[in-house]
Amino acid sequence: MALLVMKFGGTSVADAERMREVADHVARTRRHGDDVVLVVSAMGKETDELLRIAEEVSAVRPGREMDMLITAGERKAMALVCMALNNIGIPAESFTGSQAGFLTDTNHMNAKIVEVRPDRVRASLESGLVPVVGGAQGVSTDRDVTFLGRGGSDTTAVALAHALGADACELYTDVPGVFSADPRVVPKARRMARISFDEMLEMNACGCPKPVMRSVEFARTWRVPLHVRSSFTWEQGTWVVEEDPTMEQAIVSAVVHDVSEAKVTIAGVPDTPGVAARVFRALADRGVNVDMIVQNVSEHGVTDISFTAPRADLEASVDVTRALADEIGATGITTDPTIARVSLVGAGMKSNPGVAATMFETLATAGVNIEMISTSAIRISCVVAESSVETAVQSLHTAFGLDARPE
Ligand code: ASP
Ligand code: MG
Repeated sequence: MALLVMKFGGTSVADAERMREVADHVARTRRHGDDVVLVVSAMGKETDELLRIAEEVSAVRPGREMDMLITAGERKAMALVCMALNNIGIPAESFTGSQAGFLTDTNHMNAKIVEVRPDRVRASLESGLVPVVGGAQGVSTDRDVTFLGRGGSDTTAVALAHALGADACELYTDVPGVFSADPRVVPKARRMARISFDEMLEMNACGCPKPVMRSVEFARTWRVPLHVRSSFTWEQGTWVVEEDPTMEQAIVSAVVHDVSEAKVTIAGVPDTPGVAARVFRALADRGVNVDMIVQNVSEHGVTDISFTAPRADLEASVDVTRALADEIGATGITTDPTIARVSLVGAGMKSNPGVAATMFETLATAGVNIEMISTSAIRISCVVAESSVETAVQSLHTAFGLDARPE
């Protein structure tokens, strides 16, 4: 008998029919002998809708009221899911984040969990009920309702699984798991049966949006096994777990791409101590989230520095670097908003030489020019032109033997 925390995303509780399917799945799981705690997101696109209405109503939107508003979405969903459970004879009761013991800081719209004291949830389980907890919410140290931020329901689920000592945290969504590449770009992408926390975090950082990075970080810290799976097919999905050193690691597990960044190049910078420090301090002070940085070998005492940052930060990046250009003696600033980053992720890279060589050869053969390169122990990323990203991803997926075999 296991204790499972099951989190259902917006599409999984989008309407009455989906909620009834969730209830049926809970019934099957209980018949199998397992205990279940549910965490639910707001129905469908409700969170977006609430944010939109707020914008329409007022230009002044105090954080306290925004959190009260947004968390109402999950509150609605949790009550309805309880009713769907009651309807098929499963006793269930709902809990707001506050009732479920989620204590947070006072940072509205993006609160951090300070402590989880799930006494009421535990008592509910012990009396044979199915507790249904509203995701992404808590109560602050100032006793106000707080929202944990977009995608915060995953975090709620992982934190609750940890606090209850659950055996696993299942994240139900509308896709059947984590794929070896974006299936929209690579039709032969495969669902992975299993991936390590570290690989998942690298994939998150390189453009794979789900499961939400913050929840994966928590899961890794607390060693909570995650199971990402579909509430449409109910089939086995992808387990995100601790690396098993006794198992052979795939050299490359996935090819991830991201088209959300832009590149800025500062040309003709004097190669003297302190220049990079000034540039990147100024960018940090403006809140620019810099990703890759490349400094060229200097020639005659001058060099070029390029970096990438989210496209949304491009304007701020240009402002900051233009303002500094004269001071640091740079000759010009150029930008390229149409770049893409292609990354290989795989735990087995650590102990296998030649991955970078094969990656570069594959891109060369495909006629894709590499603009920047960065690596970690289990990742290699290349910046390429956005127009060549699909070719790059597809050719790498094939070259590293990841294509699904025809059935
Ligand atoms: N409903 C919230 C959102 O859409 C929280 C969540 O789903 O995780 O961001
Ligand atoms: Mg959602």
